[in-house]
Amino acid sequence: MLKITSDLHTHTTASHGRGSMEDNVRAAVELGLEKIAITDHGPAHLFGVGIKNSEILLEQKRMAIALAKRWPQIQILVGVEANVVSQDGQLDVPESVLDQLDLVLIGLHPRVRPASLAAAKALVWNNWLARFRAFESQAIAANTKALLSALERYRVDFVVHPGLHLKIDTLALAKAASRCGAALELSGGHGAEREYVEKVLQTDVKLVISSDAHKPQDVGNFSKALMLVEEFQIPAERIINAER
Ligand SMILES: [Zn+2]
Ligand SMILES: [Zn+2]
Repeated sequence: MLKITSDLHTHTTASHGRGSMEDNVRAAVELGLEKIAITDHGPAHLFGVGIKNSEILLEQKRMAIALAKRWPQIQILVGVEANVVSQDGQLDVPESVLDQLDLVLIGLHPRVRPASLAAAKALVWNNWLARFRAFESQAIAANTKALLSALERYRVDFVVHPGLHLKIDTLALAKAASRCGAALELSGGHGAEREYVEKVLQTDVKLVISSDAHKPQDVGNFSKALMLVEEFQIPAERIINAER
């Protein structure tokens, strides 16, 4: 059985998670993980889902230094699950803050404040229309372009749960991520469509398995991803946080 040594995508009360940073760290230590990352939702996420402002990420960085003294047995990283807020790939966290973080996760979610009117049309209106089949390809093109642009524009570690909320062209994304040195997530909490895994495996893009835990009890829960690893016989070499 494949062993995952780090959980690189977890949430706290700074976005809409239930536990503190220390709760997630404690849970990861109990599971014997080597690394845990705190990656709350970026500030453009509406209805209290996102962090209030990007400064919070820098506070979390300082907090991680204090926690590291109490929990020397684990490496504590601070990143963000940034939202892509325009078709030209703008993220909802300034680059000056991203530069100070340990890792940058990017993704698409519904109910996110777009960067401009043009972005609202491309990413909100198109996805609303996508409920009608005739408009689906238009939404897929817009979503994929936004992610590809962000991959070109920023140093991205991985793309979270591709295709989960908003549809994308998986093959195009996997090729671009591979070219840009970013990985794609295989979500332990959400799982993934078989079609997504099939397409990803047609390319040489790396994968990362994470829990996307929104409560401490879910830290290190990789079960839905591990079932897919088993089913598709994905080798450990493809997964950046698997034990070799
Ligand atoms: Zn997410
Ligand atoms: Zn998440």
